[in-house]
Amino acid sequence: MRATEALTRLVRDVPDFPEPGILFKDISPLLADPDGFAAVVEALAAAGRGADGAPAVDKVVGMEARGFIFAAPVALALGVGFVPIRKAGKLPAATHRVSYDLEYGAAVLEVHQDALAPGDRVLLVDDVLATGGTARATVDLVAACGAEAVGFAVLMELGFLPGRAELGSLPLTALLTV
Ligand code: AMP
Repeated sequence: MRATEALTRLVRDVPDFPEPGILFKDISPLLADPDGFAAVVEALAAAGRGADGAPAVDKVVGMEARGFIFAAPVALALGVGFVPIRKAGKLPAATHRVSYDLEYGAAVLEVHQDALAPGDRVLLVDDVLATGGTARATVDLVAACGAEAVGFAVLMELGFLPGRAELGSLPLTALLTV
């Protein structure tokens, strides 16, 4: 199964969740389908490969919570480490932290200060790019560690929101734009 077909068939639209006016992209059916899940993981991992197919990043970063589900297998597919970006108060050791706005609400994200080495090339992975606030905050956290975000890979980009513009010159790989 191709990744775009998997996303079209297996991501479910749930209207008015978690609040009125939000059309929530529910990935549960995709996760329950091993062929579809594998297809999207490999398509996301391609964003971390060079022209020769070899891994071109040192780490894969995923954002809590649904980003974890995709970023961890992408890291294994590339043979590099996975780094979690977590919501406030979850990481036990010294952290960098950034406040950011969501499509719905606001939040704080953190990363362990020693999770990335200076100069590391980092691929960011999440499920949905909406306003871009989460992505922007993650890019800032990567920079705070002295590392460099070199790409952002998502299953779905909500094309009617300005998320892509928030990324500036950071290359975006969106498997599907809706
Ligand atoms: P944003 O920071 O606005 O780009 O929002 C991205 C984050 O919020 C991602 O981690 C998504 O998991 C989640 N998100 C935002 N909008 C949606 C949506 N319509 N459906 C599912 N998840 C969403």
